[in-house]
Amino acid sequence: MSTTIETPVRVKWVYFFGDGAAEGNARMRDTLGGKGAGLAEMTNAGIPVPPGYTITTAACRQFYEAGGALLDSIVSEEDDALRRLEKMLGRRLGDPANPLLVSVRSGSPLSMPGMMDTVLNLGLNDETVAGLARQSNERFAWDAYRRFVQMFGRIVQNVEGLDVVFDAAKDKAGVKQDTELNAEQLQAITDQLKKHVQKHTEKPFPTDVVTQLELAIKAVFSSWMGRRAVDYRNQFKIPHDLGTAVNVVTMVFGNMGDDSGTGVAFTRDPNTGERVLYGEYLTNAQGEDVVAGIRTAPKIAQMATDMPAVFDEFQRIGQQLERHYRDVQDLEFTIERGKLYMLQTRSAKRTAAAAVKIAVDMVADGTISEREAVARIEPAQVDQLLRAQFDPVARKDAKRIAKGLNASPGAAVGRAVFDADDAVEWVGRGEKVVLVRIETSPDDFHGMAVAQGILTARGGATSHAAVVARQIGKPCVAGCAELLIDYGAKSARSSDSGVAFKEGDWISVDGTTGEVFLGALPTVEARFEDQTELKTILDWADGIRRMGVWTNADKPEEAAQARSYGAQGIGLCRTEHMFREGDRLEIVRGAILVANRATRAKARRAAGAEISADEQQDVATFDAAMAKLEKLQQGDFEGIFKAMDGLPVVIRLIDPPLHEFLPNLEEQLVKVTRAEDAGGASEADTELLATIRSLHEQNPMLGLRGCRLGLMIPDFVKIQTRAILNAEIAVKKAGGNPIAKIMIPLVGHVNELAATRALLEAEATAVREAAGGIDVEYKFGTMIEVPRGALTADEIAREADFFSFGTNDLTQMTFGYSRDDAEGGFLLKYVEDKILPYNPFQTLDDAVAGLMKIAVDKGRSTKPGIELGICGEHGGDPESIHKCERIGLDYVSCSPFRVPVARLAAAQAALANAAERDR
Ligand code: ADP
Ligand code: MG
Ligand code: MG
Repeated sequence: MSTTIETPVRVKWVYFFGDGAAEGNARMRDTLGGKGAGLAEMTNAGIPVPPGYTITTAACRQFYEAGGALLDSIVSEEDDALRRLEKMLGRRLGDPANPLLVSVRSGSPLSMPGMMDTVLNLGLNDETVAGLARQSNERFAWDAYRRFVQMFGRIVQNVEGLDVVFDAAKDKAGVKQDTELNAEQLQAITDQLKKHVQKHTEKPFPTDVVTQLELAIKAVFSSWMGRRAVDYRNQFKIPHDLGTAVNVVTMVFGNMGDDSGTGVAFTRDPNTGERVLYGEYLTNAQGEDVVAGIRTAPKIAQMATDMPAVFDEFQRIGQQLERHYRDVQDLEFTIERGKLYMLQTRSAKRTAAAAVKIAVDMVADGTISEREAVARIEPAQVDQLLRAQFDPVARKDAKRIAKGLNASPGAAVGRAVFDADDAVEWVGRGEKVVLVRIETSPDDFHGMAVAQGILTARGGATSHAAVVARQIGKPCVAGCAELLIDYGAKSARSSDSGVAFKEGDWISVDGTTGEVFLGALPTVEARFEDQTELKTILDWADGIRRMGVWTNADKPEEAAQARSYGAQGIGLCRTEHMFREGDRLEIVRGAILVANRATRAKARRAAGAEISADEQQDVATFDAAMAKLEKLQQGDFEGIFKAMDGLPVVIRLIDPPLHEFLPNLEEQLVKVTRAEDAGGASEADTELLATIRSLHEQNPMLGLRGCRLGLMIPDFVKIQTRAILNAEIAVKKAGGNPIAKIMIPLVGHVNELAATRALLEAEATAVREAAGGIDVEYKFGTMIEVPRGALTADEIAREADFFSFGTNDLTQMTFGYSRDDAEGGFLLKYVEDKILPYNPFQTLDDAVAGLMKIAVDKGRSTKPGIELGICGEHGGDPESIHKCERIGLDYVSCSPFRVPVARLAAAQAALANAAERDR
């Protein structure tokens, strides 16, 4: 144990705000939580905020350290703050004549919407309720009291069923809305609620207001470790030791009549980014009434009609806050008898489309710089914008079940499930699901996280379902009121269309339009060409990034696609993929059958020996197959060069072991055995089996492949080199500008590269001589993907014009994991059990990155200008791209669909790196 030295510096546990001045500010999120920092900042900016104080996150951590108790110093500082608040307002907590009421609100440093609960109207008991009634009116006072008992019972005392008691009482009184209850009814209900609490806690409802406050503060601290908060933090990788702050805020009342109200609004539309206030509000209501969908709330625009002056002020404050925070704000407010109070401000969660539009708009109006705009977009959002939509033709003919609110855009297809736990279970079985709920609460989060999309019958655009869906990037249709959901029967039916579905039925949810269809509709890719704002952001990113973004493409169509996404070259063209197309596989197999014999015979012939007639036959068969292949490959390369005209194309020579082009050993064995049992197998099948057997290796990924194969059977790489260079000549003759780079894989020793290069330079010279005056240009490079290659990169650089890091193999060989086996086997368990922090095949491992850095330094020490790139899967992973920037690579290469993401991530990596250097 370490000894702690008592420092004379006193920790400040409580920060006061009120009367235009606050002890905290926006920079103190870590200490005050987001909500507390916002309340302080708004107070300082002269915005009307009810006064109060924030107990720090440090106090929360202290609370856990003390095993769930509050330190005396915290209690006494909190007490001082309360006295100060009472003095400022001229009201006292628990004063029967003039009672102060407060809310007790959680607020963590990172936004965790709806994860923790708030207690409103604290400070009421049978005496103070009378005082409150005298100040306002009986009905209001009893409404506040019954709300308090209901909330305090549920949140602080964990009593279930209070809402049921309240709903039953409403039914009995014959009313639908809580606003229709009168004072006597509310008083009776409050009594009932208290009895319900007493029955469950076996203690009378706490009437001492100081006890109420203490219990509420402790409950907020405790909620930090509640299941839904923990689940949420796990999902978003938020550390569990941040703690939450507690905000004690003077109550202002939105339930004082029709000149009062409460609401939630965004300063811009969080779906589209459009510059209009977006939200909902309710008159004569309090707190969560809007979000919980107790009554259907009108759109915020309605406020302009109901209370024009307040609406104007709200709009002005919204704009002020937007300018102040330089971002779109998500606001919570209450109006008490015509006076507006702000209760919360935070940066608004938004859809990908909105994020992009808002960033571009804010650059246009001078609020933020292009760099900030680029830094603000999340790579995942770019991904989302390129996500599929429903096929327009199919959707026209589809059977529509219902229409709700388009709460979070995108197309989701899955089988209906009606419970979050069921969702998790179905997905565990490999199913795709859409979670269908009457409404969602934080308890449903785990189901939402695994679902393709979310559908709710109740709740608006700011409901829990909508907010969470937008944040986690899932399509959501909310508030689909016509949908009658029966949890018991696990089914739903639209009261309008009459269409019904049950658990397990396929449904399609269009979060962009709000429509829900029966069946699994086909989807179509989003059109990048039409996304002007995204393209603007990416253009800015291009101006910022240092690294190039290339693509891995094997076909002209892929190359063209990638180019339209902004790819600046091909970093990896896998030639063997072309071996499998159409009737080529037969040619390749024919060649492989005789490859070894023919190669040996040729070598003997070259050394001056006689070869037999049989051998001559093998050589002829082999050469004929190779000649065909050469021609076909030349055509392939011409297509790629044309598609990438003027941009570099790195073509990798054959890499996989030859057995990959043959049938699998077991299958062929079964085939031959069966045929023999039935009277005799064909000679071709028997020969094929023998060849497969002869090529069999225990560890093919560490076997005869890459440059090793090229050196053992040189004709494959020779014809490929000729095909590349002749394609270059043909395209040049046609007026094109091909840029050829030939890449040799799997080099571990410089001699492998030197020998391969000598072999291929001879071919190049022959091609050049036959070219008839056309300039034949090319570069030779290698993949660095064997650890020994990385460690001897200085030697290898003597023979290479460029390196491309093959991080799939490099990861495989550095860890000693067989990629194909590990990823399907222990690796995911490793990640789950935190033996590994992440899957190293997805995100570049730091040790592998370290090995790359060695290779970069060594390569440059031999050849300062050597071109360095990455072409493994990591080239499209934002976190890995950051590491590539730090290592100092010249470019990343990734699959065509990742190119836009990589452009953004590379720019962000450059910005982050520059910021780090400045520090
Ligand atoms: P959350 O973190 O879930 O948004 P809040 O602490 O913001 O919880 O409280 C939820 C709602 O309760 C607020 O939006 C507001 O309507 C209401 N509320 C909280 N504090 C007060 C208060 N002092 N006066 C009036 N209403 C309040
Ligand atoms: Mg809030
Ligand atoms: Mg490789």
